[in-house]
Amino acid sequence: MHELSLCQAIAGVVRPHAVGRHVDIVRVKVGALRQVVPESLEFCWSLLREHEGMPDAELELELVAAEVKCRSCGHHCEITSKWSVLCPLCDSADVEIVHGKEFQVTSLEVT
Ligand SMILES: [Zn+2]
Repeated sequence: MHELSLCQAIAGVVRPHAVGRHVDIVRVKVGALRQVVPESLEFCWSLLREHEGMPDAELELELVAAEVKCRSCGHHCEITSKWSVLCPLCDSADVEIVHGKEFQVTSLEVT
């Protein structure tokens, strides 16, 4: 499952930072183009966190909208479709993805 491997990746980042401390909150930035279902991610995390020695660490997701810069018309646009990254103004596929591919642990709260 996609979400499960993402959770393992999150835990892999958190673990070396947490050493011996209690993890309360893990903040993760998730781009829209990652096609992550937030509920599934949270569900997988709730299964995995126990094994990772952080049984009550909460996942806080920051969702990042997809944004492209179009090389054809030069516009900067937010993409609302989850499945295509064509420029919404001129339908060009020649776009540079500015945001939406993020998947990153941004901060931790430990005690
Ligand atoms: Zn365009």
